[in-house]
Amino acid sequence: MIRVTVWGENVHEQKSEKVRKVYPEGMHTVIAAGLAEDPEIKVRTATLQQPEHGLSAEVLAGTDVLTWWGHCAHKQVEDAVVERIQERVLGGMGIILLHSAHFSKIFKRLMGTSCALKWREAGEKERLWVTNPGHAIARGLGECFVLPNTEMYGEPFGVPTPDDVVFISWFEGGEVFRSGCTWRRGAGKVFYFRPGHETYPIFFDQNVKLVLKNAVKWAAPEGAWTKPLEAPNVPIEQAPEKLVQKGEKLHAPGQKGFK
Ligand code: ZN
Repeated sequence: MIRVTVWGENVHEQKSEKVRKVYPEGMHTVIAAGLAEDPEIKVRTATLQQPEHGLSAEVLAGTDVLTWWGHCAHKQVEDAVVERIQERVLGGMGIILLHSAHFSKIFKRLMGTSCALKWREAGEKERLWVTNPGHAIARGLGECFVLPNTEMYGEPFGVPTPDDVVFISWFEGGEVFRSGCTWRRGAGKVFYFRPGHETYPIFFDQNVKLVLKNAVKWAAPEGAWTKPLEAPNVPIEQAPEKLVQKGEKLHAPGQKGFK
């Protein structure tokens, strides 16, 4: 079983009647229900409003893949929780960032770039082209699929060059966007997926649900890096091969490295 934690900001659903009409129980519950259709996936949810945003060290330790939807409350996510998530990703946990999560603290930290993009809210049509049909995230899809009403995101997208671009979107208004991008950070896999504006029923779409199930399976850990933040000094006598000190030494024996 792949253990997935679906994280939702859960703010617009409380404040906006328009969003509540589409997602009366919150977007995270719909995303979770879509994933739970797959017998290989075990889902739990967590939200901003919970203590530690529902992402205690224990919850993260029991999470193989974390999905993230946030929009208006990125700044309210505590830095200590962001750091904890980053360490888990470097250690092997997969993470899937959805739509407006491009400006979340965790995505910006993992990318190290602006993560900026163009946008327009006009309910326009989006056609997502599969640019990498051999990729596990595109399994079972046709050569493209359409979302009838979306918010437009346009290039340039301020991210590091992805390892793989799985989807490129074309929008009715003319812009294009790299809608499905993958990176590796430490032992962890990162997938950014563009669709998911909160006033449209995008997380009910069959193709979107399939992409998310595929992405969870792709992002599940293949190995682990147990202490990804540590930079231990290896004393001469502990070197795998016998070694004799040569030349001058800057560091005293047993001294910690500079960080
Ligand atoms: Zn949006």
